Amino acid sequence: MPIDATQAYDDQNIFAKILRGEIPATRLYDDDYAIAFPDIAPQAPTHILVIPKGAYVSWDDFSARASDAEIAGFVRAVGTVARDAGLVAPGYRLLANTGHDSHQEVPHLHVHIFAGRALGPMLAR
Ligand code: AMP
Repeated sequence: MPIDATQAYDDQNIFAKILRGEIPATRLYDDDYAIAFPDIAPQAPTHILVIPKGAYVSWDDFSARASDAEIAGFVRAVGTVARDAGLVAPGYRLLANTGHDSHQEVPHLHVHIFAGRALGPMLAR
């Protein structure tokens, strides 16, 4: 079910549980601001999720409320994860679903990194 991006943060969401170590995930990256782990249902040969450590529902919530340090730290983490995975030369796509029409399902901000094949048009037509 897509979420409502205007909702309050729910600390029982699955990515909050991953951050607290209550649910396992392979941490590909971990710093003060972000972690990255493989998507459990990959939609490309490489499909990585990067999430901020802070409690933010969506891109909207994060861009409105996060500190400059959190925003810089998170954006740099996304870039570092892709770079360290060797994705810059072949290319990659970032996606951050926000709210109902985008079909965001997990109410903790996450950026998808897709790579590993020609990714086709940006959106289904
Ligand atoms: P979105 O539709 O943008 O909210 O994407 C949520 C993503 O989280 C989907 O691609 C799911 O496959 C992924 N996902 C859900 N649970 C887990 C989990 N426990 N570990 C890794 N990825 C997950």
